[in-house]
Amino acid sequence: MRQRSRVLLLLLVITLLCGVLFMMRPDGLLAPYLSIYDEPDEPSEPSQDGPVSDGPDTPSEPDDPDVLPELPPERPSEPDVPTTPTEPSTPTVPTVPSEPNTPEPPEPSVEPTVPPVRPSEPEKPVNPLPSYDYPIDVSAYLPAISYRYDSILLVNKTHPLGPSFSPGIVTKLPSSLTLYKKDVQLEITAASAVEAMLLCMRADGITNTFVTSGYRSYQYQASLQNSYVRDEKSRNPSLTQAEALAIVRTYSAAPGSSEHQSGLCVDLMTTSMSNLDETFESTAAFAWLQKNAAQFGFILRYPKGKEAITGYTYEPWHYRFVGRDAAIEITEAGLTLEEYLNK
Ligand SMILES: [Zn+2]
Repeated sequence: MRQRSRVLLLLLVITLLCGVLFMMRPDGLLAPYLSIYDEPDEPSEPSQDGPVSDGPDTPSEPDDPDVLPELPPERPSEPDVPTTPTEPSTPTVPTVPSEPNTPEPPEPSVEPTVPPVRPSEPEKPVNPLPSYDYPIDVSAYLPAISYRYDSILLVNKTHPLGPSFSPGIVTKLPSSLTLYKKDVQLEITAASAVEAMLLCMRADGITNTFVTSGYRSYQYQASLQNSYVRDEKSRNPSLTQAEALAIVRTYSAAPGSSEHQSGLCVDLMTTSMSNLDETFESTAAFAWLQKNAAQFGFILRYPKGKEAITGYTYEPWHYRFVGRDAAIEITEAGLTLEEYLNK
């Protein structure tokens, strides 16, 4: 009996539990009092009102997170930008000017080519002949014509050049300016000046004058001397080598003491001449040169009556480039280069 009552009690408890559970269903009698069903109900409510009122808020929230993640990256990038620009800009600005200052010093090496600035200065010494009118436009030649040397090179028997001396940049003169279109080389500045001089001479009506000699190397001068000595000995077989050489010395410079090795001088000839001789003195070209050569930077290097100073006999055909300022000064004063340089 006792066991039977226990079973009945258990069944009763189970039945009660089932009843309670039944009432606890979402739509059961106890549902409104149970909080566990409030949450599922709220979502359903906002889902209805959501599209109207909460909708905008909800989307705005997801947008914010999208924006926010973007902003952080921008902000870190922004601070980087300001920091990098400010830091590098300030250091680079001071360093940049400081660097240019250092590279500027190398410019002094450019100074050698600065001489073109001097063309403006020549206007002062140009005073002797300020109104000279070149017969053609020589503006392209003026930097060469008015070139000013820091020190003018002196070449003579007491100031010879060594076998290794070279005039720097040497260029070939236009064949239209050389006698019978022979190859004549000259230092590049002197070449430009002599070209302007001959073009102006032609513009003034003198068309028969050409360059017959320009730059000669030490080696060429040595071979020239040997051939002159042979000529003298063949002309007078009784001459010794030393005697023949002494004669050659009177008209031909020893290797190293020829100004032609400087590349800065020319010998001029007319087509009516067969040799370089004093007949050049009676040509229209010589008269023109007497009057105008200095305006192109050239001087008559071995004037008549100055043999004791120059060491060479009168050579009306030999012209030396020294630059316009010096040439005008030397010519106006009637000096030789030796006298002008006090040597
Ligand atoms: Zn000469």
